[in-house]
Amino acid sequence: MSIYSKNGRLMIPVRSRRRGKIAKDNPCDVRYVVDKVYCPKGCNLVDKRQVINDFPGIRIGFKRDNGEGEFVISAVEGDFEKQVLHGKLEDGTKDELFCPHCGEEFRVLVDCNCSDGAEMVVLGLTPKLNYNNAITFCNVTGCSNGSFIRSGEVIRHVRLRNC
Ligand SMILES: [Zn+2]
Ligand SMILES: [Zn+2]
Repeated sequence: MSIYSKNGRLMIPVRSRRRGKIAKDNPCDVRYVVDKVYCPKGCNLVDKRQVINDFPGIRIGFKRDNGEGEFVISAVEGDFEKQVLHGKLEDGTKDELFCPHCGEEFRVLVDCNCSDGAEMVVLGLTPKLNYNNAITFCNVTGCSNGSFIRSGEVIRHVRLRNC
C-alpha cells in the first residue's frame, strides 16, 4: 500500500486515512494546526522543510530492536498522514520516539488501549513542557489515537477552505 512521492520520500496511508483527507467531506471543516512543538529538552521539532498538507510537519526520531529512523507527522489536528524520512515503520509495531536533535526520549502521558505496551507520548507546545498545552499521540504505527490538548495562544485556528 505504500507509495513513493515524487521527492522520493515514503508516504504511508495510515489506517485513519479512511476518514478522508482534510476537509474533503466537510468543506467547512476547521482544524487546529500547531506551529511550535518542542522536545522535553526544548528543541523545536517543527521542520519547515518537511511540509505535509500545506503545513510544516513535526520531525520525530524512532527506534526499536530491529531498526531506527526518522519520520514527520502532520501538524494538522486529525490528519494522521506521515512521511518516513529514513528507516522503516512497521504497522502495529511500537517504537521508542525521541528528539532527532538531542536524542531525548519523549515523555509518556498514559497507556494507549490499542495494544499491549502501547503508550501515548506527549510533546509540549512551549519550550518547557506543560501537559496542559501539548499534543499527544500513540507510539504504535497505524494507531490513530491522539489529540491536541488545547489552550489558545500557540495554536492557530485555521480554516482550510473558504466557507
Ligand atoms: Zn531535543
Ligand atoms: Zn495506540
